[in-house]
Amino acid sequence: MSDIRLEGVSKRYGAVAAADNVDLAVAQGEFVTILGPSGSGKTTLLSLIAGLNRPTSGRIFIGGRDVTDAPAQQRNIGLVFQSYALFPHMTVLENVLFPLGVRKINGAMARQQAIEALRLVRLEGLEARRPSQLSGGQQQRVALARAVVFKPDILLLDEPLGALDRKLREELQVELKQLQRTLGVTTLLVTHDQEEALSLSDRIMVLDKGRPQQVAAPAEAYLKPANRFVAEFLGIANFVGLEGGQTGVVRPERIRLAEAGTAGKPARVTEAVYLGQMVRYHLALENGGAGAPLVAALPFVGRALTPGEKVCVSWEAADIWPVA
Ligand code: ADP
Ligand code: MG
Repeated sequence: MSDIRLEGVSKRYGAVAAADNVDLAVAQGEFVTILGPSGSGKTTLLSLIAGLNRPTSGRIFIGGRDVTDAPAQQRNIGLVFQSYALFPHMTVLENVLFPLGVRKINGAMARQQAIEALRLVRLEGLEARRPSQLSGGQQQRVALARAVVFKPDILLLDEPLGALDRKLREELQVELKQLQRTLGVTTLLVTHDQEEALSLSDRIMVLDKGRPQQVAAPAEAYLKPANRFVAEFLGIANFVGLEGGQTGVVRPERIRLAEAGTAGKPARVTEAVYLGQMVRYHLALENGGAGAPLVAALPFVGRALTPGEKVCVSWEAADIWPVA
């Protein structure tokens, strides 16, 4: 198990800086997620750490060792990509044995390690199947077993659940978190899914155009975003004007709705989106001016408000987070 440190890491492709002066320190055993939109440089960062790609400038350390110029096979890293990348002609067991063979671990010892890794991802009994005989979720579990079977120093996961449907993805998120906790392996996950990032990680790094925007614990990034980009990427943000021309963010679940004519700003419901446990209301403030549309999210209790209904909107000063 090792820590990861990036110091001023950049990767340029012509005029594009896919990674732009990135500093990041991931502690031993920590689970950090790189979160950003498509094209923000997530895969580039991971491939630089894995040694599949060389930085234009900056240094990369794994377990305190400068690996910037070390080839991939000298980095002892477990890797999982969105596409399962299993060997189709090999059985599940042979796939998981493969990285052990590369490391000259063979025989009963290797077999025992492979079976143990398959047990960890709950695939015991499927050793003899071929990848084509497995579901997408099972294939990704094999990929995970193959990535951890040789006890890597660090685990790098590039959108590993991206190809799975929502329910399966949520199941595997829980399993991935449990696996990471059991092994205690330092993990860097890449995703564009903010819920996945918020639910799995000890900390997240939000990336935009190759530049880190914020590195923080999930709740801190959500409630105290460093800037507008982070505020909007991590969910719905209501931007409200503050005294002195500043802007603040209020999250939808912090918006309170009361009966028309009571305390608060008069508003009209323009849209009610039923989401199961919650209802998301789009609101237009009546008196114009600072009348930016607002979004509120309230638990569904028996009845939802309907478009056109008048309400009073309020929020607490403590629920406003100023952003630049
Ligand atoms: P993400 O994984 O966040 O979607 P990538 O790291 O794949 O982003 O890409 C970041 C940026 O770098 C994009 O603008 C992409 O087009 C560019 N890029 C990535 N790889 C290459 C390459 N081999 N050659 C040229 N441009 C690249
Ligand atoms: Mg990518």
